[in-house]
Amino acid sequence: MKRLSISLAALILAGCSASTPADDGTVRIVTSTPIWADVARVVAGDLAEVTSAITDPNVDPHHFEPSAADVARANEADLVVVGGGGYDAWLYQALSDQTRVVTALPLVDHGTLAENAAGAKVKVIDGNEHVWYDVEAINVVGQDIAAALPGASAAKLEELTGGFAERVAALPARKYAQTEPIADYLLAPSSWKDVTPKGFRDATLKEGEPSVADLARFLDAIKAGEVEVLIYNPQTKTDMTRRIREAAEAQGIPVIEIGETPVDGSGFFTYYESVIQDLEDHA
Ligand SMILES: [Zn+2]
Repeated sequence: MKRLSISLAALILAGCSASTPADDGTVRIVTSTPIWADVARVVAGDLAEVTSAITDPNVDPHHFEPSAADVARANEADLVVVGGGGYDAWLYQALSDQTRVVTALPLVDHGTLAENAAGAKVKVIDGNEHVWYDVEAINVVGQDIAAALPGASAAKLEELTGGFAERVAALPARKYAQTEPIADYLLAPSSWKDVTPKGFRDATLKEGEPSVADLARFLDAIKAGEVEVLIYNPQTKTDMTRRIREAAEAQGIPVIEIGETPVDGSGFFTYYESVIQDLEDHA
């Protein structure tokens, strides 16, 4: 990692002195999602201009298709920040050079993280790509950005995420189910148990469509009182997730919304805190 950091710093310095017309001396960081942009901004401060390929909070990053301009911007950036693991492969696999990429998970093909978890900088849960809800992943990526950007510091990230894992760990034990496995990393420090029926979970982990039998099992589990909290991802809505939500509401089960990106367009750290607050208030 040390060697990579040094080469990244060297590239940035080289970028600063290059005489291409587009180069006005500004260090540019391009990220896949607004979450990594928020992380990069905290670390880089005034040292870099940070832009995210995705800016619309209503977009599902799983199915994002970057424009030619997005790809060109990333190719011209000094640093590209992604989550990796296949989630934002649409950005890193479009790059002509992956040596300037900072990532939490290996830059693997989509859907192959479970078999290729060895290169990850954090513990991979079940081949799950939603790694930005892992506080350690946020900090590791922040440190890598700081290492590549002379003068930058990841210390403020630790401040912003400080207490998140402890608050989650202090939640009273619950059995929960998810319409999409968005909360594996977020809830990992807690004593919560994921009771999402296996077939449904496996299908959504691979972003496949659960079967009608999987849905029936999910609805049965809710009716039987086996689910105490429903985690609902409003950015991956389907007819199935609508029926699951309705069943949970009919049963009086708390429904906690957790999005791929801040659904209200707020900053990531504010959003993350509000999700923890929701869990504390309603679960
Ligand atoms: Zn997702």
